[in-house]
Amino acid sequence: MATVLEQDIKYLPGVGPRRAGLLFSELNIKTFGDFLYTFPFRYIDRTKFYSVREVNVDLPYIQLRGKIVRVELIGGAQTRRKRFVAYFSDGTGTIELVFFQGIKWMQEHLKMGVEYIVFGKPTDFRGKVNIVHPEIDEPSGEKGGIQSSMQGVYRSTEILRDNGLGPRAFLKLQANLAAIIAGKITETLPAFLLSEQRLMPLPEALYHIHFPQSAELLAQARHRLKFEELFYIQLGLLKQRLVRMDTTPGFVFSTVGDYFNACYNQLPFPLTGAQKRVIREIRKDLRSGKQMNRLLQGDVGSGKTLVALLCALIANDNGYQAAIMAPTEILAQQHYESIANFIEGTNIRVGLLTGSTKKKDRQALSEQLLDGSLHLLVGTHALIEDTVQFKNLGFVVIDEQHRFGVEQRARLWRKNEQPPHVLVMTATPIPRTLAMTLYGDLDVSVIDELPPGRQPVKTLHFYENKRLRVFGFMKEQIKAGRQIYVVYPLIKESEKMDYQNLEDGYETITQAFPPPEYLTAIVHGKMTAENKAADMQLFVKGKAHIMVATSVIEVGVNVPNATVMVIESAERFGLSQLHQLRGRVGRGAEQSYCILMTAYELSTESRKRMALMTSTSNGFEIAEADLQIRGPGDMEGTQQSGMPISLKISDLAHDGQLLEHVRSLASTILNQDPDLSSEKNALLCSRLKQIKSMADYSEIS
Ligand code: ADP
Ligand code: MG
Repeated sequence: MATVLEQDIKYLPGVGPRRAGLLFSELNIKTFGDFLYTFPFRYIDRTKFYSVREVNVDLPYIQLRGKIVRVELIGGAQTRRKRFVAYFSDGTGTIELVFFQGIKWMQEHLKMGVEYIVFGKPTDFRGKVNIVHPEIDEPSGEKGGIQSSMQGVYRSTEILRDNGLGPRAFLKLQANLAAIIAGKITETLPAFLLSEQRLMPLPEALYHIHFPQSAELLAQARHRLKFEELFYIQLGLLKQRLVRMDTTPGFVFSTVGDYFNACYNQLPFPLTGAQKRVIREIRKDLRSGKQMNRLLQGDVGSGKTLVALLCALIANDNGYQAAIMAPTEILAQQHYESIANFIEGTNIRVGLLTGSTKKKDRQALSEQLLDGSLHLLVGTHALIEDTVQFKNLGFVVIDEQHRFGVEQRARLWRKNEQPPHVLVMTATPIPRTLAMTLYGDLDVSVIDELPPGRQPVKTLHFYENKRLRVFGFMKEQIKAGRQIYVVYPLIKESEKMDYQNLEDGYETITQAFPPPEYLTAIVHGKMTAENKAADMQLFVKGKAHIMVATSVIEVGVNVPNATVMVIESAERFGLSQLHQLRGRVGRGAEQSYCILMTAYELSTESRKRMALMTSTSNGFEIAEADLQIRGPGDMEGTQQSGMPISLKISDLAHDGQLLEHVRSLASTILNQDPDLSSEKNALLCSRLKQIKSMADYSEIS
């Protein structure tokens, strides 16, 4: 039998089938439960009144108490939008309440000289403070619903608002729901946790999150709901990891032998401390008898490829093959070349397989893979095709993880009877809290040290109007023998415009840097693979001075002679993307520069991003700031990571401490009772299953 929370939302009084359809299409709300767990994103303190004299545009939503002294209908001709203005006074001053919609209703219902409570956000209109579309209530006006000192404000959408489902209506519907579910909510956390952790029981928490009777009760409700949300995620992830370790044996690589040593002994430089540490961590996994699933994070240029190679050679030393998978053809090619360099003169055999590998070569590779004579295979997605078969694949490296889905990873697992060890590498550092949630079932290693002798890239921010100066600087650099990237944004939604910008930009560049003195290459997604490769080669070989490109070059490309990265419309890029792009320069011995070009008018957020970029080159600092500025939902990598995080109440940017706390708690519980089979943990076990089945269900639907 369906519980009350599983009831279709259309049965909630005030909803009905049409609004139910809208709630689903706009906010994915299907059931009473979905609606109940749609929490206010903000609260207004209904006990606090401001006086009109105090009002300024920096205040959030505020409440005033006073009377309407005069009304006026303004405009209506083509030139001006019709608006209804009510002059509202509380004795300390008068403020304009402005309405563009619902004018007729206002005209009919608003009464002069009657006390009202006005509620809204002060805004600036031509230097004067006003409030647009405030809520207006009579003080004792029981509008139904539940009175609470803090009033919840719900996120709505334009379509919902147009259909009578604005934040206000949400509040009323929540009150209807509260009446229906009263006494029917069952606790989802075991009693021992509630008392040990001093958590508010669920029914109360769900009540006070919608209708807080005080700030203190609201804080407790929020804490309880966040706790539960994060706790079950961590419990689930840690349990999954335990199960995997239990049920997935790993090949045992106990020796470090000739292949490893041959390469290691001829390295042109010593490993950094961080590289050594990470190799030790991985070696430990490879000897453990359990399958390794490790995430390797490290800034661009920190030397992850070499770490991957050395570990792959350990697999070879134990009679297994290894594969290294990159997200693009160019990257695969570069990995292949740098690996070929490192192992030159040894008897280690490495092959390259991409979409454009010729059939004949493919055939040869295929034979060598099957008879085991090929030790290492570097490639793109082409690697996971079922036709690619290994004699004995034991170690897989996936570079730039976020471009691969879970399913693609799973196909690699199936390339041997027993899954190979997996090392996932990413150059987009992920803040710890996010990593714990996204990759909570993986072990994490970090390379937090760059090879010595690298000069940090100098980052400068210029507005449009300094373009000539920037061109001058580019000419100096070219004269000194260096190469330059000029990158344009490419955002799906505005693709057409973006290509236009790119083409205009290319023209401007070729005018300012005319051939034959200067050669400018161009690479973007609309070109044929052949043309792309040709222009890419021009730049890689040092023949082209400038490379104009879309953000496709963001990952990979190693041209140590390129010392300048000019990023056009930099305000349109996210922080981690900017950081990635910057990582394309600063790879050689010369001083490198990253130039951020932006429009003059910048949002506060963009300004913050530019300031951060010019002040730090530490990827982790940037990732952390990115999380703070944008919130986890928008972080690069989260959508494609294969583990969607839809947090209803927690916020990874601010709840890091709570997250650490619940993770260690979950870990303690699992240490004592790995199967969660004890009486005490019965609720945890059943709730976890329930959450999992809900997640599976939502993936299907
Ligand atoms: P990542 O993949 O982490 O961005 P790479 O593996 O491409 O970094 O390394 C960047 C460059 O640094 C490569 O040219 C590589 O040969 C070089 N490198 C790697 N490790 C070291 C080291 N310990 N000392 C000096 N150079 C190194
Ligand atoms: Mg790399």
